[in-house]
Amino acid sequence: MAFALTSSSSSTAISVSSFPRSNSSSDLKVPQIGSVWLPERHATVNLSRRRCAVKAVNADPKRNDSIVPLAATVAAPEVLEKEEAEDFQQLAKELDNASPLEIMDKALEKFGDDIAIAFSGAEDVALIEYAKLTGRPFRVFSLDTGRLNPETYRFFSEVEKHYGIRIEYMFPDAVEVQALVRSKGLFSFYEDGHQECCRVRKVRPLRRALKGLRAWITGQRKDQSPGTRSEVPVVQVDPVFEGLDGGIGSLVKWNPVANVDGKDIWNFLRAMNVPVNGLHSQGYVSIGCEPCTRPVLPGQHEREGRWWWEDAKAKECGLHKGNLKEDTAAQVNGIGNGAASANGSATESDIFNGQSLVTLSRTGIENLARLENRKEPWLVVLYAPWCRFCQAMEDSYVELAEKLAGSGMKVAKFRADGEQKEYAKRELQLGSFPTILFFPKHSSKPIKYASEKRDVDSLMAFISALR
Ligand code: SF4
Repeated sequence: MAFALTSSSSSTAISVSSFPRSNSSSDLKVPQIGSVWLPERHATVNLSRRRCAVKAVNADPKRNDSIVPLAATVAAPEVLEKEEAEDFQQLAKELDNASPLEIMDKALEKFGDDIAIAFSGAEDVALIEYAKLTGRPFRVFSLDTGRLNPETYRFFSEVEKHYGIRIEYMFPDAVEVQALVRSKGLFSFYEDGHQECCRVRKVRPLRRALKGLRAWITGQRKDQSPGTRSEVPVVQVDPVFEGLDGGIGSLVKWNPVANVDGKDIWNFLRAMNVPVNGLHSQGYVSIGCEPCTRPVLPGQHEREGRWWWEDAKAKECGLHKGNLKEDTAAQVNGIGNGAASANGSATESDIFNGQSLVTLSRTGIENLARLENRKEPWLVVLYAPWCRFCQAMEDSYVELAEKLAGSGMKVAKFRADGEQKEYAKRELQLGSFPTILFFPKHSSKPIKYASEKRDVDSLMAFISALR
């Protein structure tokens, strides 16, 4: 059901859905329209600024499958006001030292009804609290993948009650889920990676949601993922998804807590007495789907609790894949780093060039793998010089080799991309680059290093446990 509000001064009319919008501010002067609370000042700001569409919302097919099928729209005069292009890169610079509250306020002020908070059911509840504190109306949506923990569903309900809101849930397409599960089972992501399942259960529903918006608000923080989130700006033109007007560049992404540390988020939640997901008290930090999330131990990075069977620096489910650098994305997609690298004719300069490191040829590693009794144990990294993750561990691996020089332990490298890749996958347990293998003294079978921590101390601990 929709309500209509006519403004005689501007000759515009606004139709407002009866969908409950959030407005926790009790001290603003708010005229009630049906069941919708619409503060006067924001209606005015939004009406004058929003790019106007002549067609009613429901007549626009682009909105039909979005989270805003009936949200506010403006029937405008025939001659439309041209919206000034905003330089969001510049705005990001200006807001880089602003508080999350200021950034949230700016986002809600600028986009009114056309922006929504993406809520995962974890500590990004802080976004909802910040939105409430601005006193502006705000909207919240969430992706119900069908695989969330019971605690997360209960938390959604608690948040709805606490803030007096209705979360706008997005669900995956039933036919797509059915096809995936019937053909590959319920846990295919453990075998061939999480991308396919995430695409069906998260990315496509998100894409549909965003097609009804002009901006969204996320809880991304720089400290969440060293590989993928270290350069997240507080606001950016979304590099991946499209908004209501269609085309790349039609959606703005706000990250109000990009510069905030995880511990400061928690200080804020405690100070404001905000409800939190019960899983946090069981050791979970980052929370996603039940089969793909686990608690982390003290000192472990929070992202180690997500898709722990995959590489640490590629852990994006697709919701923020714009964070992935080109080569990272290529690697995640299994297409290497362009044809030159993939076919082994790469011209990149080599890496792991320490004096204490042994370079193994194909024959060398075949011989090493055949030996039942070695004079000393070996640690070997299977690498590709173009791989960012290999590059990232280069210093620590070279340092490790120097530390172990003369200790009766050999440290080596074997370039395993290009034409060596099939062999390495078949015989040396290569899954992704880098793969680190320990060849014990008295066994031919190498032991694969399973952790994503590749600093000197972690590698030393691995070697000490096996020597
Ligand atoms: Fe599927 Fe796991 Fe991604 Fe959830 S997080 S959508 S269960 S792969």
